[in-house]
Amino acid sequence: MAILGCFTPERPVLGIADIADDLGMSRSTTHRYVITLVALGFLEQGASRKYRLGLRVTDLGMSALNSTGLREHSRPYLEELRQRTSYTTSLAVLDGPEILYVDRARSFRRGQNKIDLNLRPGSRLPAYCTSLGKVLLANLPDAEQRELIGDDQAVVYRPVESVLVTPPWHRGRVVLIGDAAHATTPHCGQGAAQAIEDVLVLREELAADRPLAASLEAYATRRFERCKVIVEGSEAIGAWEQDRSLPIDPLATRATVIRAAMAPL
Ligand SMILES: Cc1cc2nc3c(=O)[nH]c(=O)nc-3n(C[C@H](O)[C@H](O)[C@H](O)COP(=O)(O)OP(=O)(O)OC[C@H]3O[C@@H](n4cnc5c(N)ncnc54)[C@H](O)[C@@H]3O)c2cc1C
Repeated sequence: MAILGCFTPERPVLGIADIADDLGMSRSTTHRYVITLVALGFLEQGASRKYRLGLRVTDLGMSALNSTGLREHSRPYLEELRQRTSYTTSLAVLDGPEILYVDRARSFRRGQNKIDLNLRPGSRLPAYCTSLGKVLLANLPDAEQRELIGDDQAVVYRPVESVLVTPPWHRGRVVLIGDAAHATTPHCGQGAAQAIEDVLVLREELAADRPLAASLEAYATRRFERCKVIVEGSEAIGAWEQDRSLPIDPLATRATVIRAAMAPL
């Protein structure tokens, strides 16, 4: 079972050396066990001579899910809920720090398959970052919640988009402010603050006694560099979160952003 547990969605294909290292076993012992698992259909050998899980594992997993009786009982409810909402509905149980999908009634709305993430009975996700998981965790005693969601390593960092429009920020009487000109990632919590600053600067520049186009240009010039430091600094922290080997110092970057945000307007 420990050998089967080495295979994960992130590491679906493993060689004897990978498995032996993971489990602290000798390569010859690992090889003997692996040969047995291949003979039983729990592992398959690919062209690269490495191994992946065999379909027999799915049979076992489905048998375990079915044996709880949960799927059978929940099906009519999942289907009714799907019909009422027109969205995909899911049933999962908490299994340690993860949720385990027991059943799904898929919706056929346009675009739904993009948000369904190819999840199916037997799929697992960390409980702390899914709505289903949060609902299940919410009913546990505090101590148990802390134990299940205390592992920093479980945080799944994903890219977040940002926007930085190079001036001009106006055309005729239409002018960009806030996120439309410079939407920053959440890493420094500056989006709304910068949108409010835009309004203050825009108001000052519009009050100056000069043609409208010159005021709008002066507004963008005053704002651009400050917003650029914030957008690019926040992006850098986000990139570092996803790849800790990048030569980025997140604390120093954050300090640079905060200094820029605190400078007089
Ligand atoms: C989850 C989350 C947490 C955040 N936390 C922070 C934080 O802690 N600190 C911080 O400073 N910032 C934070 N932000 C960022 C902040 O919310 C935004 O930067 C800020 O709201 C941008 O203001 P805005 O007026 O430019 O745009 P928005 O607030 O997006 O306002 C644009 C408005 O235009 C409307 N609209 C869009 N298209 C049309 C149309 N065609 N016709 C009419 N109306 C339209 C929209 O409905 C919306 O009401 C957070 C953002 C998110 C999503």
